[in-house]
Amino acid sequence: MKAHDGIYLDGAWRPADGQDVIEVVNPADEQVIARVPAGSALDVDTAVRAARAALPGWAATPPAERSARLAALRDALVARKDEIAETVTAELGSPLKLSQTVHAAVPIAVAASYAELAATHPFEEKVGNSTVLHEPVGVVGAITPWNYPLHQIVAKVAPALAAGCTIVLKPAEDTPLTAQLFAEAVHQADLPAGVFNLVTGLGPVAGQALAEHPGVDLVSFTGSTAVGRRIGATAGAAVKKVALELGGKSANVILPGADLERAVNVGVANVMSNSGQTCSAWTRMLVHRDRYEEAVALAAAAAAKYGDRIGPLVNAGQRERVRGYIAKGVAEGARLVAGGAEPPRERGYYVSPTVFADVTPEMAIAQEEIFGPVLSVLPYDDEEDALRIANGTDYGLAGAVWAGDEAEAVAFARRMETGQVDINGGRFNPLAPFGGYKQSGVGRELGVHGLSEYLQTKSLQL
Ligand code: NAD
Repeated sequence: MKAHDGIYLDGAWRPADGQDVIEVVNPADEQVIARVPAGSALDVDTAVRAARAALPGWAATPPAERSARLAALRDALVARKDEIAETVTAELGSPLKLSQTVHAAVPIAVAASYAELAATHPFEEKVGNSTVLHEPVGVVGAITPWNYPLHQIVAKVAPALAAGCTIVLKPAEDTPLTAQLFAEAVHQADLPAGVFNLVTGLGPVAGQALAEHPGVDLVSFTGSTAVGRRIGATAGAAVKKVALELGGKSANVILPGADLERAVNVGVANVMSNSGQTCSAWTRMLVHRDRYEEAVALAAAAAAKYGDRIGPLVNAGQRERVRGYIAKGVAEGARLVAGGAEPPRERGYYVSPTVFADVTPEMAIAQEEIFGPVLSVLPYDDEEDALRIANGTDYGLAGAVWAGDEAEAVAFARRMETGQVDINGGRFNPLAPFGGYKQSGVGRELGVHGLSEYLQTKSLQL
């Protein structure tokens, strides 16, 4: 697979100071497909300096011109969508169709949305006798995970560019090739040198150096709660802005009047998609006791049908972690109705689509983020019980409610402690704010709310 042996710094690919390399592995066959530099703290420092130097010019660039560059970036992504999809499939392992329809297509839609927002957003407003200016926060340190490798980059970089910020990106170790393709697209879009910089590298080295760098004004992180907590603490100590998109354990609440078959089938598809490696996946399905066994049978059948269509997990460590959770579910007394911990293939980091029934709310598989194709089905007695279970975790990222009528589902959703709820299978909206309540994070991404994260206000009293 094509890879750069340098880092993208100040408008060009340059040799890294760090001499170590990261081996990129195809999780479907466990073969090394490329090597990229593991950037050092000095590489991060050089990149942050380049971003700082580029900041005054980019911040002063009229929004209409920033919008034009973002539109050019979108066009560059569109022109390379097949290459993007193939690269995501090679390093993440997702089936090619998913890579095309989600991993390549969603970031294009998000880039397009920010090209438009940059042109139309009021960066000045009148409040009484004040003029309020919405100014860029400054240099952004973006740290991204591997599960939606391009989406999570674009969900940070596009609003940062629209706001007038400059950026240093440290992408996940498992998926640096997609990040390199993105840097190529930025280059094609003719952004001024230093506005966007890419340092591939290890989390505890390059990631930590970026999070701690005094030249970074805002750290935007997506990944695990454990690392997010540390980054939040570091940013807090430096009185620095931080945005955190962390884990989830979202509930799919099926109320008694719902179309059970549809709710279960969409729910299973939601969990199995991307091999369960989705922070907003509805990994707890809540069903009224009267229809519980019917739902369990439907979920088991739907998961079994997934069979071979599911991709591998991203790496051996993730596969072992997920297998460990499946073993724990069995040990805690949950009833395995589909899949299991046994690897379905000899090669590749595969885990079978797995469904547990008789899960109680306090079990580890009902509380902790598994990040694999594992669904827990929990029974509830009445609506109050369903709400207690739905809200009974440390997380609050997403969720779903299904009911006979929309108003009933909406009434339930209003009482959920979570950042996003799909009503009766509502479609994904790239303009709707995305982010977590409770330990699922701080801040919001996408749309105008995502743009606001990268702006700070100045009030002029006239
Ligand atoms: P992670 O938090 O370790 O990695 C995310 C990013 O942070 C990567 O770029 C990584 O290099 C970087 N990083 C790691 N340590 C760092 C440090 N000390 N300082 C700065 N940056 C650092 O997550 P992971 O290992 O990729 O996945 C582990 C778990 O995280 C998953 O099983 C899942 O539960 C969760 N996760 C959540 C999301 C999400 O979208 N919310 C995405 C991926 C993973």
